[in-house]
Order: sequence, then C-alpha cells, then structure tokens
Amino acid sequence: MAKLRFQALQEMISRQPKEVKYPSNEISDYFGELVFNKPKMERYLSHKAYQSVVTSIEESKPIDRKVADQVALGMKAWAIEMGVTHYSHWFHPLTDTTAEKHDAFIEFGNYGGLVENFSGELLAQQEPDASSFPSGGIRNTFEARGYTAWDVSSPAFILGNTLCIPTVFVSYTGEALDYKTPLLKALNAIDKAAVEICNYFDKNITKVTANLGWEQEYFLIDEALFQARPDLMLTERTMMGHKSSKDQQLDDHYFSSIPERVQAFMKDFEIEAYKLGIPVKTRHNEVAPNQYECAPIFEEVNLSNDHNQLVMDIMKRIGRRHNLRVLFHEKPFAGINGSGKHNNWSLITNTGINLFSPGKNPKSNMLFLSFLVSVLKAVHENQDLIRASILTAGNAYRLGASEAPPSIISVFLGKKICETLDEIVEKVSERKMTPDEKTELKLGIGKIPEILLDNTDRNRTSPFAFTGNRFEFRAVGSSANCAASMIILNIAVADQLKKFKCYVDKLIGDGITKDEAIFQVLKKYIVETRKIRFEGDGYSEKWHKEAKKRGLTNISSVPESLSNYLKPENKDLLVRNGIFNERELQGRVEVEYEKYIKKIQIEARVLGDMAINHIIPTAVKYLNTLIINVKGLYGIFEEKEFEELAGARKELIKEVSHHISSIKQNVHEMIEERKIANKIDNTSEKAFLYHKNIIPFFDVIRYHIDKLEFTVDDEIWPFPKYRELLFFR
Ligand code: ADP
Ligand code: MG
Repeated sequence: MAKLRFQALQEMISRQPKEVKYPSNEISDYFGELVFNKPKMERYLSHKAYQSVVTSIEESKPIDRKVADQVALGMKAWAIEMGVTHYSHWFHPLTDTTAEKHDAFIEFGNYGGLVENFSGELLAQQEPDASSFPSGGIRNTFEARGYTAWDVSSPAFILGNTLCIPTVFVSYTGEALDYKTPLLKALNAIDKAAVEICNYFDKNITKVTANLGWEQEYFLIDEALFQARPDLMLTERTMMGHKSSKDQQLDDHYFSSIPERVQAFMKDFEIEAYKLGIPVKTRHNEVAPNQYECAPIFEEVNLSNDHNQLVMDIMKRIGRRHNLRVLFHEKPFAGINGSGKHNNWSLITNTGINLFSPGKNPKSNMLFLSFLVSVLKAVHENQDLIRASILTAGNAYRLGASEAPPSIISVFLGKKICETLDEIVEKVSERKMTPDEKTELKLGIGKIPEILLDNTDRNRTSPFAFTGNRFEFRAVGSSANCAASMIILNIAVADQLKKFKCYVDKLIGDGITKDEAIFQVLKKYIVETRKIRFEGDGYSEKWHKEAKKRGLTNISSVPESLSNYLKPENKDLLVRNGIFNERELQGRVEVEYEKYIKKIQIEARVLGDMAINHIIPTAVKYLNTLIINVKGLYGIFEEKEFEELAGARKELIKEVSHHISSIKQNVHEMIEERKIANKIDNTSEKAFLYHKNIIPFFDVIRYHIDKLEFTVDDEIWPFPKYRELLFFR
C-alpha cells in the first residue's frame, strides 16, 4: 500500500478514545464560568454601572463612555482573577470565520515598568489594521483602517488566556464590514414592526425578540487520514473518491450508538461550550457515516449566532485533541448526505407569547395567523433574496443532491394549518360579515391549538418548514454564518409586517372593524401566496416540474443567485430599511463573488495537482506492471494461447491508458479556461465564467479518476478511500 495511506491507516487503527471527565456532575455548576454575564457584572460593577449596562442591553443602545470605563475596570479585575493576560475584540468579518487580534493588558506606567491597563476606550472601540479583510472595494488600502465597537448585547468571554469582546466591525467611513452590524439592524427592525402588529391585540407588548436555534451538522475524519488527502486539507471536501460499497443504504448510522472516540470528543467540546455559556443540548449521529449533529437550546438570534460561531471554533480546536478533524463543509463526500445548519426561528414577545404558537383563544390565534401569513408572504415575495443568502460555493454542491432540499424555495405548513388558511379564503368575504359569520370563523380558528400538538405532521424535505411553534429554515449550509440568512429573513418579514399594518390601517380608516380588516388582508395574502406553499416531497423530480409550472425560481448557479441581491426590488428592500446602503450592498456582493471565485479556483488547483502529481503517476505505474506482464506472457506462450490469455489484460491497458489521457487532456483544458477567466477584472463576470466553464471539469476529471481508483492495484493507490475515510472507529 502507498506509504502515506498505509501509515495513516495504521495510526488511525491504533487510536484509543481519550478519557474525558466532567468538571462536576451538574452542568449548572460551571455553565457560563468563562462569561462576563449579568451575575458577574453585578459582582464586579457598581450598582449604577450595572444598571446602565443592563438598560443598554435591553434597549440595544451603546453605553456611555464613563460607564464603559467602569465596566472595563470590572471586567479586567474579573479576567485577571481568571488568569487572563490579553484582551481582544472578537468579530465576524466577511470571511468564513471569526477574527481576533490579541493585545496584552500591559502599558508602561508613569514611573517606568509595566502596569496592567484596560480602559473604557479600549473596551468600547479599537482600530485594528484590517486591510486584509474582504470589503469588496469599500476600503482602498490608503483608508485601510476599520474600527470595532463593543456589542453590549453579547457578553465578553474568555478563550484560552484572552478576554474576548464581541464587537461590530465597520470601515472608517461608517460602512459595515461584518455580519453582525446588519444583523443587529435587521433584528431591531423586526422588533419594531412586530410590536406594532402585536399592539392591535395587546398593548402590553413592547418588545419582540427573534430567536434562533441552530442544528449544526458535521463530519469527523481521523487526523491522519485527513492529512493524507490534499483535497480535504485544502478544500474540506473530497474532489475524488470511488463510492464505498456500503455507505448509508442501510440507514444504520442515523441515531445509532455514538462511537466511543466520538463521544469523548463531544463531551470534551460540550464542557468547553458550557463554560462559555453555550446551552448545547442535543447530540446524535446523522444519516451519513461519520456524520453528526449538535444543537443548543434556542436563544436570541444575535447571541445564538455568536454562540454558533464560537462552537464551530471550539469544535475544531477540541477535535485536534482527539485526533479528529471536524468538517463543516456542506458536501465533503459525493453520493451521501451533505451537512446543513437548520435555522429554527421564532418571534417571542416580552409578555412570553411565541407568535408562531397558536394560542388558546380566537384573539391569540388572530395574532398567530397574522404572523404566520406575513412570513408566508415575505418568503413568497423574496424567494430570490432568501436563496441568495444561503447559496454558496459549498452549499451549491449540497442543495438538490442526496437528501437535501432543492434550490427552489417553498414553504411547508402542514395539513391543519393549510386547512385553516383555506377556510379563511372560503369564509371571509369582501362585504361586511354578519356577526354569525364572524363567530363561526373565530371558532374555526380557535381549534388550531389542539390540532398542532400532533407532531407527526412534519416534512423533512422542505427548505422552509413550519414545525408547530417555529419555522425551520433547512436550506442553510453547515459552514455558513447564520447571520447571512437571518439578516434577509428578518428584514423581509419586518418589511412585510409593515406593509400588513399599512393595509389594515387603511381598511380601518375606510370604516371596517379591526378584526374584519385583518381577515381581509389575511385572505388576500393567502390567495397571493398559494404558489409558495408546498406540502409534498421536495426531493422529487415531480416537484421540480411543478415548481416550474408555478413560476417559482430554481437557481443553482451561485453567481446568478448572488446577482439577485442587486435587483432593483431587492436592493430597495435592503436600502429602504437601512440594512445596507448602496455602497455596502455592492461591496458585500463583490465579496461574495470573490469568495466564490477563490473557492472554485482552489478546488480546481487541488484537483489538477492531485490528478497530475499523484493519480497519473500511480496509474502509469500500474500500466507498466500490466505491460511487463503482457510482454512476459508473450515470451512464454504460443501466439493463439497468448491472445486468449492476454486479452483481458490488454483491455485493461487500453482502459487505464484512456483514463490517463482523458485526465491529462481535461486538466489541461481546465487550466486554459482558468487562464481565460483570470484575465477578467469584473468579479461578477469572472464568477459566472468559473461557474460555467470551470466547474463542469470537476465531474469529468473525477469520473476518470474514480474509474482508475476502482481499477488500479489497491497496494499502490495513494489516497485513503471512501470506505476508510467514512468508517473509522
Ligand atoms: P429536530 O432535529 O427534530 O428538528 P432538534 O432537537 O435537533 O430538532 O433541534 C431543534 C432546534 O430548534 C433546537 O435548537 C431548539 O432549541 C430549537 N427550537 C425549539 N423551539 C424553538 C423556538 N420556539 N424558536 C427557535 N428555536 C426553537
Ligand atoms: Mg435535528
């Protein structure tokens, strides 16, 4: 066996699960130990400073400079007690990870020597030289400075010996360069818009919080095997690999017992997560071999997203301790399930009402229906934008493939809700309703709660499904920053709620009662959004045809999908609601195009390198063995006998030669196409070319390599095979 592959397998086989001990029997004993949360603030801050921070958090307002000084002092005292030496602003640039730059607490004192310092100024704002972060041309290098500012709503935490302060990241001229800034704006917008609707029914509602519970799927690969695969190392996905005879056909991985090595890893990262105040709750095996999932208890969107980013970071780091690599790529292996990150999303009021939970009486059900139908309308109106927020280079390989929703956006509501909506359409009339009609309608709606308890009514093939008390956005990719989709979803719904209110107010102004006005608007929306509702099998071919007939868009090209951000109506939604200004939006889309181009470029290079440097030489070696073998036979046997015996071998020689030539030829052509694309300056054009002219080579080259993998002597095959990568224990 090729040396590296052999060694990797040996190493993998010899691994023992690490022993992991819980710090205490009860998680609550150490939960949030590394977080400067409210209880700690109360302890380390004066009462006045504490109150002021809490108010800032509740009202989403920046804190006063004087208070910042006090908070910084308190935070520093706590951090130093915890053994911390450095601090860092922690933010979400437009890359795939979070960013930190550590500074020690030290400064020169007045009398020489060092003193520990951390002022309110350093806490509240910093100016990292951030010229290397993507900005889509917003910052030229001469105005490279950006600044980071404390996001008070997300508490500071300790990673290693560094105090991390969650911050927004903006350019010197005020444009957002991160995910957090627009997310906070969108969350603020939905709060305001939702409260207005709630106030039709209940004046005590003054705040609506959007919540997120993510389900993070991932693959685990043994460290040694990972290192033996250049494609995994550089792209997190396999660019080649013959299908394993057994993979997920038997459905024997999903929810089965978790291997000990993996359990140790899970325990280890969960402990770390608990210390950081991340309420991870669920862990299980997913459908594909070596695929797993982790899900927390839901939290407010911004905090939940910070926690997701942190968890991903922790998982990667802790994985190394267990000689495991965590793959967050959406499609690391062809032919088996990819990984998603379902975003469970709901709106909950300050009075504790979940706006997606049908209530106990007709009034609360009116509230429920107003929100449910507004979401329906928002998704209907913004399908292209919603898709653009989730379709990335990696996710494009997943969507529409094995057991993943297609690139068609639709909403699943479940039978009972659908019936209720149909009933509204049927019963609400344009004219004034009689009291009897109204009562009947409200009674019908009053029935929703019992019905919904039946949770069997779930559809796992929908990209966007109502699941009883929340929506589950399933099309989101596993490596994504949830903010990308949460910005769009929340602002689309916020905008729709505003329109809903305008409409209802107008009808009320025309002299119709509030309830009736709401019913009429609901009816109109229900009728208008019929085509986005789909209850059937989203994976089926039939749905693709049906969706086309309905006029729903089905875009699997990333560049095409990205271009939708800049369509007038979409730009208008984002700009009008103050989420991005034109320059920011332009810059952001530019960044996405660049990311896409670079990812595909790296994949193309890796594939070319593996094909030419590893696969072809291996195939040639095997070819030579065959040639020597056939030549040898020729010396031993008579002509006729030789022909009989050597026939199959000669066929093999032809086959292998054919694959070698095809690989060589296609890699050459792919490189030529890259050269053409790389000459283009316009990123959008370049991205379209990469999609159209370079990606198609991946499957062609892979086809020949996988055939070779199946043919060439296993002894000399250089890379760990699918069965080895996917079935370690
Ligand atoms: P499933 O795989 O059955 O969909 P999981 O238990 O894996 O469910 O994950 C469900 C996720 O949904 C969890 O993160 C959970 O906290 C979250 N969730 C539950 N209720 C809500 C809600 N009202 N709002 C937002 N998220 C929720
Ligand atoms: Mg789940």
